[in-house]
Amino acid sequence: MKVISDLNQTPLVDRSLAAVWHPCTQMKQHESFPLVAIAKGKGAWLYDENGKVLLDSISSWWTNLFGHSNPRINQAITAQLEKIEHVMLAGFTHQPVVELSEKLSALTSHHLGHVFYASDGASAVEIALKMSHHYWQLNGKPQKKKFVCLENGYHGETLGALAVTDVAIFREAYGSLLQDVFTITSPDARKAKAGESSEDVAKHAAKQLEELLTREHHNIAAIIVEPLVQCAGQMAMHSSEYVRLVRKLCDRYEVHLIADEIAVGCGRSGKFFACEHAGVWPDFLTLSKGISGGYLPLSLCLTTDQIYQAFYGDQTQQGFLHSHSYTGNPLACAAALACLEIFETDKVLEKNIGRSQDLAAAFMWAKTDSRIEHWRQQGMILAFDIKNNCLKDPKIFARTMFANSLNEGVLIRPIGNTIYVMPPYILSPAQTMQLGKAVQIALEKTLA
Ligand SMILES: *Cc1c(COP(=O)(O)O)cnc(C)c1O
Repeated sequence: MKVISDLNQTPLVDRSLAAVWHPCTQMKQHESFPLVAIAKGKGAWLYDENGKVLLDSISSWWTNLFGHSNPRINQAITAQLEKIEHVMLAGFTHQPVVELSEKLSALTSHHLGHVFYASDGASAVEIALKMSHHYWQLNGKPQKKKFVCLENGYHGETLGALAVTDVAIFREAYGSLLQDVFTITSPDARKAKAGESSEDVAKHAAKQLEELLTREHHNIAAIIVEPLVQCAGQMAMHSSEYVRLVRKLCDRYEVHLIADEIAVGCGRSGKFFACEHAGVWPDFLTLSKGISGGYLPLSLCLTTDQIYQAFYGDQTQQGFLHSHSYTGNPLACAAALACLEIFETDKVLEKNIGRSQDLAAAFMWAKTDSRIEHWRQQGMILAFDIKNNCLKDPKIFARTMFANSLNEGVLIRPIGNTIYVMPPYILSPAQTMQLGKAVQIALEKTLA
């Protein structure tokens, strides 16, 4: 353990590497690639300690919707600070949590009219899994307790969420701690053979689910999916037809559908909820990341009146006895309400149609580059893959590309050989163009 004695003389990044254990990181790799100390943010821009400016093109891990230090969100949080910063939500309530719940319910046309809160995405997933499991017990079907998840899916890294996650690098060391699940084929449109459409891939994948449900539905509580985009799974995209078919199968076989919209929700897919592309509602829908505009940890699980009523009764233990200390934090709810208001008053979903066209235009160069395949876009997410035979060293491609992009003034964080951008909903056409150019230059340097 390295104790730094002269704190004033030591750069912040070095103090960080000594004392902070960074997430999702092999710390030793920071010997050769940069840790960036951020001093402030404004709009889509991050400013490091030396005044260098970076375009936050991945919205700080997909959380930021309306820019850093957004005056309207700042104002909403500051106003809330003057009232109540936090109060427990068991036995108490407050204006922001009530209003936010009402607004979210309305956004689902009241199909999902009950909102249970937590702080991080993984906790919202745990809540959906536990509620589904408990529901079947309460309905005299305690044998319905297994979960179905998708190949290449990601739902967070606490033990329950990790069990339904199929990203090897996150699971490997913890396999023996995880419950058994059914993992079915992903409807990833990149699997389409010559002459096949993404709908065909969706139908094949749904067929496999049907076979599983025919055989095992008595033992299955729920299936969990990331509708339209498996974001952590290298931005694998699929047809909305898949979500529609899964909903039908869930109805036929009495299995819950959990839509994990932690990454794809809040307008990211082009509609507020990704499920809207399929014209269906799930039994549980999880949100986090963008819901507070990237300001504060807030997550939630929306569910139906049918689920809610199953827990409603005279016995305490019939209730959903789950809690987190910061459940429904007023500051986080105030930030979320400010975001929903921006969606409404600024017609964000409408304007994002143009923004996603700007994004496509800015990355048109990648569509025709012979070293690139599977160029794809869903709303405000754009991704493409570098062909494996064009990578000098696949193991360090992502890190090298990250570092080269920093030099071009852009924050991107490739996943394996996939480059993606997921910017906040505030870039001008010129800024989006600048983003596309910077990524192109960084990629040329990386592949040279
Ligand atoms: C990020 C993410 C999670 C986990 O959220 P955390 O806040 O990181 O725990 C779960 N599901 C999906 C789809 C995600 O993208």
